Formats: sequence, C-alpha cells, structure tokens
Amino acid sequence: MRPSNENILKICIKALKSRRSNEVYDGIKLAAYLVEQAFKSELRKINPLLYFDRKNISDKTALLAAEKKMSSEELFRQKTCSATQCISAMTEYSPDLKSHAANIKELFVIRNFILHSTDDFSFEQNAHVETAVSALRACRKYITKNMGISSNEFNPLTTSEFEELQRKEHGKRINGLKAVLKKHKKRFNKLNPSEVKQKNLTNLPTTDNTTWIEETQNCPACKQPSFDKIGTVDFDWPPEGMDAYGKFYYQCRVCELELSEYEYELTKEDTFN
Ligand SMILES: [Zn+2]
Repeated sequence: MRPSNENILKICIKALKSRRSNEVYDGIKLAAYLVEQAFKSELRKINPLLYFDRKNISDKTALLAAEKKMSSEELFRQKTCSATQCISAMTEYSPDLKSHAANIKELFVIRNFILHSTDDFSFEQNAHVETAVSALRACRKYITKNMGISSNEFNPLTTSEFEELQRKEHGKRINGLKAVLKKHKKRFNKLNPSEVKQKNLTNLPTTDNTTWIEETQNCPACKQPSFDKIGTVDFDWPPEGMDAYGKFYYQCRVCELELSEYEYELTKEDTFN
C-alpha cells in the first residue's frame, strides 16, 4: 500500500532527527518530495499551464491548459514542470514564500546532490537538516493544504517537538557559520593593507559563459567590498530536451569566505551584529 502523505511526513521528520547520515539523506529526499508535490498541486489550482513543462507542449495544448479546458486524460499525459521551475513560480507567486526562496532552493540543491552523487561526499549533517526543517516550516501552509495532511491528526509543524528540532538545528547552524566567519576574519587580520588591495583587484572568481559575477557586496567576515555574488548555470540533457539549473553562491576575494545563497541570508540575522 502506498504510504499516505501524513506517514511520509512522519517518516521524514523521524529521519531528519536521526544521527545516521543515510537516514538523514532519506529525510532530505522526503522533505523535497513533500515541498515539490505541494507546490505542483498549488500551481495546478492557480492555472494548469503553470503545472506543465511548457517547453514540451504545443501551442494548442497550452491554450487548452490556460483556459482550463483540458480533459483529465490529457492532464495526466503531460510532462510536469521541473522542481526548479515550480520553485521559482511559487516563490514569485506567493509573497510569504519569497523571503524563503534561498532556503527552499538550497533544499533542492542538496537533494539533487544526494541523488546524482556517486562518490562519498563530506556531509554537513547539521546544516542540511536545518535547511530541510526550515524549508518544511516555510512551506507549511502549502503542505497541509495540498497534501491531505490534517492539522488534527498530524501536523508536526505546530508540535513542540518540531519547533524544538528547528530551534536546535538552527542554533547549531548559526554557531557553525559564526565559527566559519571568525576563521576567515582571522585570515584577513594577517594581511597587510597592500595585500588586501591586491587581492581585491586580482583574486577574481573564474567566469565564463555559464558563470558570472552578479554583484559585489561587503563581506560578512572581513567587511571588505570584495564579496562576489556568483551566478552559475548547469545543464542537463534528459531525453525530452535540455534542462538548465541556475544557482547563486558567494565568494570573498580577500578572505576567501564561501557561502551558499541561504547561508548568506542567515548571516543577516541580528545575532551576527
Ligand atoms: Zn571576506
């Protein structure tokens, strides 16, 4: 029997609380599944056209979808939009999700990494659990609304246990980030002013057609105007055509601090002042 979404959520939370990395992987995959399915069903309600992979449908089908005139057989035959497309559509559509966009995107970056990686990789368990739990909380409204998960029977997003898990993991992640910032500040303190200037001018990230500097800001560790926001696009060629996955990350020319988009958002919390 196929597990109900309530059970999937229960298994997901249990796995995210585990200390074993293979169980945590499962928790992350399930968290991403719940968010993706909840978003897709929301998009389908707004307009079926948003739910499909629009690259692969004819103009006639697109028109039927936009007018909500598709039969249910036709609906099921279509390829649905990718996770990346549905996250960007939902975070544009919903003002309450917009401020969590970096968090939600990071969940899918980790999920894809787990799915596609064949090597052992260094697994920052605390950081990844924090990403998954925070994303589930941010998407709470859509998960309970669209996934048949009732707040009476099981709504981990209001139980004290879940609140506690998020608080604990968030605290660990903030402490980890503070330690990283401190390490890079120390590195900066060893440089003399001319070395700082030189690094800022020459230590630029490598850019090409698919990697570029979006903007440059002040670094949260060394406070120099040398923190590049780097945009990058990866391509994948599934049988249906090409998929492009874009993401941003940050890198400092002077102290060499590297942060994901979500980590950079976290460093803006008051506790860092
Ligand atoms: Zn720096």
